[in-house]
Amino acid sequence: MESPKSRFLKVKCKKCRNEQIVFSKAATVVKCLVCESVLAQPTGGLADVQTKVEEVMD
Ligand SMILES: [Zn+2]
Repeated sequence: MESPKSRFLKVKCKKCRNEQIVFSKAATVVKCLVCESVLAQPTGGLADVQTKVEEVMD
């Protein structure tokens, strides 16, 4: 089985529009640094991003 590639994702908070960099395999809940909305949930593999991904960085 192919393991998902880890990347950094630039996401934008849906609530306050703060832009933040999130690791695609984040092992803990990632919250917006401004309003504390949950941006990504850990799944054991690729994090489940709960907001808009603006850009995928290699
Ligand atoms: Zn926010």
